[in-house]
Amino acid sequence: MGWLADWTAAHPAPPPHKRPAGIEVSYSQLRAFLDCPWLYRLRYQQRWRSAPTPASALGQTLHRALELYHAEGTSTAERLLELYEDSWVNPPGAPAPEVLALHARGADVLRRYWRQERDSKSKVEFVEREFLAPLGPHTVRGIVDRVDRRPDGTLEVIDYKTHLDLKDEAAAAQDLQLRMYAWGLRACWGLGARWLSWRYVAADRTVTAPYDPSGEEELEAFITRAADIIAAAKTFAPDFSYCPRCDFKLRCERSPLKGP
Ligand code: SF4
Repeated sequence: MGWLADWTAAHPAPPPHKRPAGIEVSYSQLRAFLDCPWLYRLRYQQRWRSAPTPASALGQTLHRALELYHAEGTSTAERLLELYEDSWVNPPGAPAPEVLALHARGADVLRRYWRQERDSKSKVEFVEREFLAPLGPHTVRGIVDRVDRRPDGTLEVIDYKTHLDLKDEAAAAQDLQLRMYAWGLRACWGLGARWLSWRYVAADRTVTAPYDPSGEEELEAFITRAADIIAAAKTFAPDFSYCPRCDFKLRCERSPLKGP
């Protein structure tokens, strides 16, 4: 039994009379709820936002530049770097030397990315495409970074990662986000993915695992149960174990790390 099935077994469904109508649910919402239910409340019910850090600003910039580059269908490194300039998100409050170093690092990442793309045998099918698919009373929403068709005709779901915290193939095979995207591909567009990949653009590495669609029953049960619990919840209990990694740790009223 995978971790999704374990979670579902450990979290009973709310009684039917307490379940309101379905909700729209995304990977990011489920991730927040799993990390700390109170974080879900702050982010998705109270609409708290976190200011971009230098790392997240660069991540946003790279995602946007790559989306525009592939959507245009252009192929020159110069154009990719122009789109990088157009997409630049300035990290608020960062000192100028840090911003300059960040900018140079991002440009270097894209030059290397461009060389890898030039040598790739796969074809980009689409980028940043949104899916909305019904699941029981709920609607599952997602935006897939990229789907490639490999030379053998199989489809590969790709999620760009701009950090250097690399995980392995076994983690990719079990990853909730990648599995939701492969599920959405089939549920919304009738396309069967064969591969799940994290493309670590800053590390020049792609981690790929085969996709096993037989796990979709377990995935659907998990998403449905989590969405049922969120929809029925009156209170959201904090999970303090996540506080050290939480974006809101210095301003959340429940945080033990919040200052005076
Ligand atoms: S700071 Fe802690 S309690 Fe508050 S939302 Fe984040 S993880 Fe939850």
